[in-house]
Amino acid sequence: MTQRTLVLLKPDAVRRSLVGEIISRIERKAGWQITALELRSLGQETLEQHYGEHKGKPFYEPLVEFMSSGPVVALVVEGERVIEGVRALAGPTDPIAAAPGSIRGDFGTIVRENLIHASDSEESAERELKIFFPGLA
Ligand code: GDP
Ligand code: MG
Repeated sequence: MTQRTLVLLKPDAVRRSLVGEIISRIERKAGWQITALELRSLGQETLEQHYGEHKGKPFYEPLVEFMSSGPVVALVVEGERVIEGVRALAGPTDPIAAAPGSIRGDFGTIVRENLIHASDSEESAERELKIFFPGLA
Protein backbone atom coordinates (compact mmCIF):
# COMPACT_ATOMS: atom_id res chain seq x y z
CA MET A 1 0.00 0.00 0.00
CA THR A 2 1.88 3.06 -1.24
CA GLN A 3 1.10 6.20 0.73
CA ARG A 4 2.32 9.78 1.19
CA THR A 5 2.90 11.45 4.52
CA LEU A 6 3.86 14.88 5.78
CA VAL A 7 6.86 15.03 8.09
CA LEU A 8 8.08 18.12 9.93
CA LEU A 9 11.46 18.19 11.64
CA LYS A 10 10.63 20.60 14.43
CA PRO A 11 12.73 23.65 15.43
CA ASP A 12 14.51 21.67 18.17
CA ALA A 13 15.71 19.12 15.60
CA VAL A 14 17.05 21.90 13.36
CA ARG A 15 18.68 23.81 16.26
CA ARG A 16 20.33 20.63 17.55
CA SER A 17 21.65 19.65 14.10
CA LEU A 18 19.68 16.39 14.08
CA VAL A 19 18.20 16.88 10.61
CA GLY A 20 20.68 14.57 8.89
CA GLU A 21 20.33 11.91 11.57
CA ILE A 22 16.53 11.87 11.36
CA ILE A 23 16.35 12.02 7.57
CA SER A 24 18.88 9.21 7.42
CA ARG A 25 16.59 6.97 9.49
CA ILE A 26 13.73 7.67 7.09
CA GLU A 27 15.91 7.14 4.01
CA ARG A 28 17.17 3.78 5.20
CA LYS A 29 13.68 2.24 5.22
CA ALA A 30 13.44 0.06 2.12
CA GLY A 31 11.67 1.68 -0.80
CA TRP A 32 10.67 4.94 0.86
CA GLN A 33 11.39 8.10 -1.12
CA ILE A 34 11.61 11.73 -0.07
CA THR A 35 9.72 13.52 -2.82
CA ALA A 36 9.76 17.08 -1.45
CA LEU A 37 11.90 18.83 1.15
CA GLU A 38 12.05 22.43 2.32
CA LEU A 39 13.55 24.44 5.18
CA ARG A 40 10.98 27.03 6.18
CA SER A 41 9.69 29.24 8.98
CA LEU A 42 6.07 28.67 9.91
CA GLY A 43 3.64 31.56 10.46
CA GLN A 44 0.69 31.66 12.84
CA GLU A 45 -1.82 30.99 10.08
CA THR A 46 -0.10 27.82 8.87
CA LEU A 47 0.28 26.55 12.42
CA GLU A 48 -3.34 27.27 13.25
CA GLN A 49 -4.41 25.20 10.25
CA HIS A 50 -1.94 22.43 10.98
CA TYR A 51 -2.68 22.12 14.71
CA GLY A 52 -6.34 23.18 14.58
CA GLU A 53 -7.45 19.97 16.33
CA HIS A 54 -5.51 21.06 19.43
CA LYS A 55 -6.85 24.62 19.64
CA GLY A 56 -8.14 25.31 23.16
CA LYS A 57 -5.94 22.68 24.82
CA PRO A 58 -3.50 23.90 27.48
CA PHE A 59 -0.45 22.98 25.40
CA TYR A 60 -1.69 24.68 22.22
CA GLU A 61 -0.30 28.23 22.66
CA PRO A 62 3.18 27.10 23.83
CA LEU A 63 3.20 24.57 20.99
CA VAL A 64 2.53 27.25 18.37
CA GLU A 65 5.15 29.50 19.96
CA PHE A 66 7.69 26.67 19.89
CA MET A 67 6.86 25.69 16.31
CA SER A 68 7.46 29.29 15.19
CA SER A 69 10.66 29.71 17.25
CA GLY A 70 12.89 28.74 14.32
CA PRO A 71 12.81 27.04 10.94
CA VAL A 72 11.49 23.53 10.42
CA VAL A 73 12.27 21.05 7.67
CA ALA A 74 9.11 19.94 5.90
CA LEU A 75 9.22 16.72 3.89
CA VAL A 76 6.94 14.57 1.84
CA VAL A 77 7.78 10.89 2.13
CA GLU A 78 6.25 8.25 -0.12
CA GLY A 79 6.28 4.50 0.17
CA GLU A 80 4.88 1.30 1.57
CA ARG A 81 2.75 1.97 4.71
CA VAL A 82 4.73 5.15 5.26
CA ILE A 83 2.09 6.85 7.44
CA GLU A 84 2.18 4.17 10.13
CA GLY A 85 5.88 3.61 9.46
CA VAL A 86 7.14 7.14 10.16
CA ARG A 87 4.96 7.26 13.30
CA ALA A 88 6.69 4.05 14.40
CA LEU A 89 10.15 5.52 13.71
CA ALA A 90 9.17 8.65 15.69
CA GLY A 91 7.77 6.86 18.73
CA PRO A 92 5.00 8.09 21.02
CA THR A 93 4.42 11.78 21.74
CA ASP A 94 6.15 11.76 25.15
CA PRO A 95 9.88 11.17 24.50
CA ILE A 96 10.44 9.69 27.95
CA ALA A 97 7.79 7.07 27.26
CA ALA A 98 9.20 6.48 23.76
CA ALA A 99 11.40 3.41 23.40
CA PRO A 100 15.12 3.79 22.83
CA GLY A 101 15.71 3.23 19.12
CA SER A 102 12.89 5.58 18.16
CA ILE A 103 13.66 9.18 17.18
CA ARG A 104 11.83 10.67 20.17
CA GLY A 105 13.15 7.94 22.47
CA ASP A 106 16.75 8.50 21.43
CA PHE A 107 16.86 12.30 21.37
CA GLY A 108 13.97 13.83 23.33
CA THR A 109 13.05 14.58 26.93
CA ILE A 110 10.35 17.28 26.72
CA VAL A 111 6.86 16.46 25.42
CA ARG A 112 6.55 19.67 23.42
CA GLU A 113 10.08 19.49 21.98
CA ASN A 114 9.76 16.02 20.54
CA LEU A 115 11.68 16.60 17.32
CA ILE A 116 9.30 15.37 14.66
CA HIS A 117 5.73 15.58 13.39
CA ALA A 118 4.28 12.87 11.16
CA SER A 119 0.73 12.59 9.84
CA ASP A 120 -1.32 10.11 11.87
CA SER A 121 -3.78 8.82 9.24
CA GLU A 122 -4.54 8.97 5.52
CA GLU A 123 -7.05 11.75 6.18
CA SER A 124 -4.53 13.79 8.19
CA ALA A 125 -1.84 13.23 5.56
CA GLU A 126 -4.11 14.50 2.79
CA ARG A 127 -5.12 17.56 4.84
CA GLU A 128 -1.57 18.38 6.01
CA LEU A 129 0.06 17.85 2.60
CA LYS A 130 -2.34 20.45 1.17
CA ILE A 131 -1.27 22.96 3.85
CA PHE A 132 2.48 22.52 3.35
CA PHE A 133 2.78 21.50 -0.29
CA PRO A 134 -0.33 22.83 -2.05
CA GLY A 135 1.34 22.43 -5.46
CA LEU A 136 1.58 18.64 -5.23
CA ALA A 137 -0.59 16.60 -7.55
P1 GDP B 1 1.80 13.75 17.95
O1 GDP B 1 0.80 13.39 16.89
O2 GDP B 1 2.49 12.57 18.55
O3 GDP B 1 2.80 14.80 17.48
O4 GDP B 1 0.99 14.39 19.18
P2 GDP B 1 -0.33 15.30 19.23
O5 GDP B 1 -0.94 15.46 17.87
O6 GDP B 1 -1.18 14.78 20.31
O7 GDP B 1 0.21 16.70 19.74
C1 GDP B 1 0.88 17.57 18.85
C2 GDP B 1 2.13 18.08 19.51
O8 GDP B 1 1.76 18.88 20.65
C3 GDP B 1 3.04 17.00 20.11
O9 GDP B 1 3.91 16.44 19.16
C4 GDP B 1 3.79 17.79 21.15
O10 GDP B 1 4.80 18.60 20.55
C5 GDP B 1 2.69 18.70 21.70
N1 GDP B 1 1.97 18.09 22.83
C6 GDP B 1 1.04 17.13 22.79
N2 GDP B 1 0.56 16.81 24.01
C7 GDP B 1 1.22 17.63 24.86
C8 GDP B 1 1.18 17.79 26.28
O11 GDP B 1 0.45 17.12 27.00
N3 GDP B 1 2.02 18.72 26.79
C9 GDP B 1 2.84 19.49 26.02
N4 GDP B 1 3.63 20.38 26.59
N5 GDP B 1 2.90 19.35 24.68
C10 GDP B 1 2.11 18.43 24.09
MG1 MG C 1 -0.69 14.59 16.01
